[in-house]
Amino acid sequence: GLSLRNVSHEFGTSRVLRDINFDVEPGELVCLLGPSGCGKTTALRIAAGLERLQTGTVLIHGEVVASAGQYLEPEKRGVGLVFQDYALFPHLDVAGNIGFGLRHMGSAQRRQAVINALERVGMADYLNAFPHQLSGGQQQRIALARALAPVPRVMLLDEPFSGLDVARRAELRDTTLHVLKNAGIATVMVTHDPEEAMYMADRIIVMNEGQVMQDGTPEDLYFHPENHFVASFFGEVN
Ligand code: ATP
Repeated sequence: GLSLRNVSHEFGTSRVLRDINFDVEPGELVCLLGPSGCGKTTALRIAAGLERLQTGTVLIHGEVVASAGQYLEPEKRGVGLVFQDYALFPHLDVAGNIGFGLRHMGSAQRRQAVINALERVGMADYLNAFPHQLSGGQQQRIALARALAPVPRVMLLDEPFSGLDVARRAELRDTTLHVLKNAGIATVMVTHDPEEAMYMADRIIVMNEGQVMQDGTPEDLYFHPENHFVASFFGEVN
């Protein structure tokens, strides 16, 4: 699983995270939900190692991967990432992009794993396409396939369905859930969409202005909001 302990963060003089704490267990999908600018992406980037941690501790499977004076690079954390700025490699085709994280496999096994990953996201016909030949939504599906193919133990997803049309989004939500649950992956997914969080999450962490407002099941948040902010946030669903 993944744990953030007492994580705080500043950009210049603005405090964007204030003492964030949460745990995600294997097989659990937790959504970080909150308005634009509340610090969701920053929290995820710190967990991934894409942003240098300033205060607190990040643990993966009980091992410290970031703390004061300690920093493990993203590639060494064993996490799958789908981030807006963690783009596909432009000089590699789709097979190369997905196969990159599967270098430990033999070539026949790797090829099969690449094809399986592509089939899951409905992109089996694009094995030899280059990123610039794909639409934004297609690139996003390849990014998801790339993250899922090695079956990491922790998955970090930042608005992974944002570039997709409604039908494709619904389909990929289900596919993603299926793959993550079957493999027992601990997942954190950033979204600003309460309905998406209600549909997908085992637990939702509602954030506002860098703080955790409530951490609970979708039912907890909907029926037992602990404060006005959470209540008003979920008032928008239905
Ligand atoms: P959104 O839903 O709009 O992506 P978010 O909840 O993910 O928002 P963050 O992207 O974590 O929010 O940003 C939190 C705050 O930190 C914002 O005020 C943002 O402007 C600021 N911020 C983020 N990255 C940087 C940076 N590299 N330098 C300076 N400020 C930053």
